Order: sequence, then C-alpha cells, then structure tokens
Amino acid sequence: MVVKKIKEGIFQFSFGNFGSCVYLLDVRGMKILIDVSSGENAEELKSDLSGLDVDVEDVYVVLITHRHWDHDGNLDLFSSAKVYDFENIGDFSLEGLEVFKVPGHTKDSLAFLFKGVLFSGDTMFHDGGIGRTDFEESVPEKMDESLELLRGLDYDVLCPGHI
Ligand SMILES: [Zn+2]
Repeated sequence: MVVKKIKEGIFQFSFGNFGSCVYLLDVRGMKILIDVSSGENAEELKSDLSGLDVDVEDVYVVLITHRHWDHDGNLDLFSSAKVYDFENIGDFSLEGLEVFKVPGHTKDSLAFLFKGVLFSGDTMFHDGGIGRTDFEESVPEKMDESLELLRGLDYDVLCPGHI
C-alpha cells in the first residue's frame, strides 16, 4: 500500500491490485473520499484509512468520479456515508470544492477541484494521458470539450484515477 500526502488534509491511496486511487479529504475533521477503488482492494483501503486514524464509519461523504467498478467497488464498506455521483451531485456542496461534468470516458464522468488539486477521474492522466472512450457508456464526441475544460482550470496538482 502507498499512502501519499498531497497537501495538508489531502491524501492519496494507491494499491497493489488493479483499481482506482482513492483520495481522502479531511476538511476540518470531516472525512470525504473521492472514489473507493475496486473490491479486491477493500482490506488495503481499510488499513490505509486506519493508518490515518480514520474508521470506515467516520467517512461522511463519498464522491464518485464515474460508475466504473474499479472506482466504486467498495461502497458497501461505507454504509454510513452519503454517496454522490452524476445523478445527485447537484445536492452536494462544500465550500471551496468545485464540481465539473466531463462526459467522454463515460457519460457520467465528474471532476473535482479543491485547494488547487484537480481530481480528474479517468478523463485525464499524468503526462498528457487521456481516458478511453470506446466503452458503450462513453461519449467520444464530448471528450475534447471535457479535456479542454480541465486543461483550462487553475490547478497545481493533478490527481487522476490511476497513476
Ligand atoms: Zn473508468
């Protein structure tokens, strides 16, 4: 397991098995996750969190960048959290957090900007990499527009779904 501190109150978990990275935001003690990785990383995720003194019941909100199994596979661990995705993201607000709808990789793809950190899901990766758009749920004709939107944002750290 690899836990990396991105900035004060922002942590990145990456895993041995295939699955998305998980990001933890600690906002004045309120614990928010961005994506929860694949089911096969459940134990590692729990132990990563407990290494930071976070219990699964402490997680208040889970934000899902898109509904692929390698990103939303551990939602059952967080039964006390409120989960937000494309369907209900409009109901969520957090001071300083911006939400962007970025269809392309999937039609329900979201990106989040918080404290200069861009959480880009599977839309944009490091070194100019971009997400696949050949899934049934992809919207390839929207991808360029979404990438342009993300590239135009004022961020200093990119935190994609896979590193
Ligand atoms: Zn995906």
